[in-house]
Amino acid sequence: MSLTALFKNKTVFSLEVFPPKKDSPKEAILPTLQQLQSINPDFISVTLGAGGSDHYTGTVQIADLIQNQLNIPAVAHVPGLYQTREQVLNLLDNLSEINVKNILALRGDKIPGKQPVGDFNHANDLVAFVHQNRPDFSIASACYPNCHAEATGFVDDIAHLRTKVDAGADHLISQLFFDNQAFYDFQEKAEIAGIHVPIEAGIMPCTNKKQIERITQITGVPLPKKFSAILDRYQNSKEAMRDAGIAFAVDQIIDLVSEGVDGIHLYTMNHADIAERIWNATKSVFDAANARTRTTIKHRS
Ligand code: FAD
Repeated sequence: MSLTALFKNKTVFSLEVFPPKKDSPKEAILPTLQQLQSINPDFISVTLGAGGSDHYTGTVQIADLIQNQLNIPAVAHVPGLYQTREQVLNLLDNLSEINVKNILALRGDKIPGKQPVGDFNHANDLVAFVHQNRPDFSIASACYPNCHAEATGFVDDIAHLRTKVDAGADHLISQLFFDNQAFYDFQEKAEIAGIHVPIEAGIMPCTNKKQIERITQITGVPLPKKFSAILDRYQNSKEAMRDAGIAFAVDQIIDLVSEGVDGIHLYTMNHADIAERIWNATKSVFDAANARTRTTIKHRS
């Protein structure tokens, strides 16, 4: 099933997981996935090589578990920077065999010291290639409410985003952000640039100091004063930091859903318990928003 249809009549709630470490069996993630199943998300996406890892296995196997054992639509991340055209086609064929036809097409995180292959220097090259060669795939792309860290400026970044959408991306998932106003400003810029596909807001519950420092260093996403205060006050208490990080994410989600966001994509970091707590605290908000959408659609028809 193509994911774009989902956005027509609901506020989507999706999750992201990453494959277990290199030498661990892929099935090690099954208990986490089973716990996430109770949330009944609209889809679960699986990363590939995220964070500059050269560990490029497990994604297909985990997508298979999600889609064919748990009956939840799976989305496979496909980074292009270190793959040849043949490797990408091979990966898409493997996904087709397990009936996963949804991908998140990315340039990919840079791997320090490794030379890119050169077939897909930017995500738009990959989106166009998949769109032409495997038109049965639904393609999502990434977007950046705080501007991509390497971009020459917001105007260029949005222009490049438009290129990805024109090449065939039918849905966007944002990088994490901590200030909802940055997301609303970005939505407006995208709209002005003629980007009209659904945009999911990426939310990462930051529940420990080390994680936050690493994330902000990789992404360049600024921490608002409110979050820095949480960090200063609670960084030495594991429990308080976790509770405050969850509350901050819940607060962001409730505000975004109230403002009519197309969907929320939760970066679970494979912490099913945290994802569950966030879902339990926001489920009624999604239910109410979706009931309202259904009524509006009914009245319009
Ligand atoms: P692009 O769209 O290519 O953009 C990268 C930079 O190049 C931007 O600054 C952009 O403005 C510029 N640019 C874009 N097109 C052009 C062009 N045609 N000419 C000149 N400049 C251009 N990484 C992984 O390795 N694996 C994952 O599984 C993964 N999952 C992710 C999931 C999400 C939701 C997000 C937001 C990111 C994910 N990433 C992952 C990280 C992503 O690969 C990095 O953020 C990467 O730096 C950029 O990827 P992109 O697809 O947005 O690249």
